[in-house]
Amino acid sequence: IAADGTVLADSQHDASSMENHLTRPEVQAALQQASGVGVSVRTSSTLDRDYAYFAQEVKDASRTSYVYRVAIPLEELNSESRHLLIAIGAAALLTLAFTFIPIYLIFRQFSGTIRQMVAGARRFAESDLQHRIERPGSSELGDLADAFNHMAVQLGRQINQLRAQRNELQAIHQSMNSGLIALDLQQHLLSANRSAEQILQIDGLASRGRLLHEVVREPDLHRFVANAIEQPASLTREFSLARDPDVVIEAVSQPLRDADDKPVGLLVLLNDVSQLRRLEAIRTDFAANVSHELRTPITNIKGYVETMLDVGVDDPEQARQFLRVIQRNTDRLAAIIEDLLALARLEQPDAEKAIEKERVPARQIIDHVLAQFEPSIRERTINIRLETDPDLSVLVNTSLIEQALGNLLSNSIRYSPPSTTITIRARKRDNQWIEFAIRDQGQGIAPEHLERIFERFYRVDKARSREVGGTGLGLSIVKHIARAHDGQVEVDSELGKGSEFRLLLPVS
Ligand code: ADP
Repeated sequence: IAADGTVLADSQHDASSMENHLTRPEVQAALQQASGVGVSVRTSSTLDRDYAYFAQEVKDASRTSYVYRVAIPLEELNSESRHLLIAIGAAALLTLAFTFIPIYLIFRQFSGTIRQMVAGARRFAESDLQHRIERPGSSELGDLADAFNHMAVQLGRQINQLRAQRNELQAIHQSMNSGLIALDLQQHLLSANRSAEQILQIDGLASRGRLLHEVVREPDLHRFVANAIEQPASLTREFSLARDPDVVIEAVSQPLRDADDKPVGLLVLLNDVSQLRRLEAIRTDFAANVSHELRTPITNIKGYVETMLDVGVDDPEQARQFLRVIQRNTDRLAAIIEDLLALARLEQPDAEKAIEKERVPARQIIDHVLAQFEPSIRERTINIRLETDPDLSVLVNTSLIEQALGNLLSNSIRYSPPSTTITIRARKRDNQWIEFAIRDQGQGIAPEHLERIFERFYRVDKARSREVGGTGLGLSIVKHIARAHDGQVEVDSELGKGSEFRLLLPVS
């Protein structure tokens, strides 16, 4: 088509008979548009069919414009595009197949590995920390598996550490000498160590989770716990147990708090202080006794010195008599102080280790003691009978054992009437003990006093003891000397017939 609309040539019709095409929209568009392309879909006026027209402007060497036009019936175009669509669809399907099958295969392998890792992680969560996840081929997942395995090793190490710490704490908790119980705010027993079980006489395991007052019937403890739960600070109380009033308990409370410092329960420490309180009472008694024992001779000495100062010393006989009383009392003071010092030495905590021992014949010890008391034996015409194994020897601290046997012998001499017999025996007993026994035919001791005569300052008859120069400490010293040798003292006595004291020392 020329630029003026004249049809120059047509593939299907005779061009000379065709009308001018300048007004055709596609021709107009091709000539006007910068792109030189025109498209139009419409019914052909000549053929009465729907056509799609495509026009393209071209220029020749002299820059004269021409338009080429193609007319395609729409039906034909539709069937063409259907073929095209099928081809495109098939290509798309093929592309999909080629793309997704490898992706699916990769995904399947990937999800298998992930499943394996999830299973491994689950075993870790169920505390199977010995398990190891197999390292897959892919390096990223391999790193993940390594990280999981490393985490399991670390967790295992930390759990072992925590377990060791817990066992240590449990061992300390169980082996504590003090009783320890933990309660919640409603007073349910959460735990009780062995000492607490013993003090409260409960079965810790069976009592766990039960209310304290259901398992323990100790009103003072319940009062203490009820008080302590109300208190934000630690509380201390001392009380005797209802089941045994001789047992004195010191209870110390400590509130239990959670991580947010909220009170969640109570720790109660139970200390059996019975022994301590008993010792304190003994000590107080002892101090009172010592003061009392010292006061009597000092009062006597003071009295006689004052009298002598008042009346003068003109009468030498009277003065001598006063001085004799003063001498007796100073002797008594000296004896008490000597005995107190001996006891203090023996009561030192490491007295047992400190004493030096040597092997000596038993007979030699007895001979020494007899020689020491020879004057009073003679004075009271006491007969001594010896029943000693001549080959017997003992490993002892000689001076201490001589002191102990001396105390026993002097008691026998003092508390026996004149002209009676004292038997001294030394022998091996049950292959376990070396036994020294001193038997007299004296006044004997009533059964109710037997248990107490080894206490300090305990005397059956105070006046009589003082009269014969006793301090009330002699048997207490004997008991301590026996203990310092890992030995013991025994006594058998019958009122009016006599007594037998036995000092037992271990064979080796
Ligand atoms: P004391 O210095 O008073 O003798 P001891 O501790 O040696 O003190 O003895 C305590 C008490 O035991 C004595 O006061 C006495 O009553 C009694 N006693 C000890 N030995 C004998 C004995 N052989 N015969 C009778 N009574 C004894």
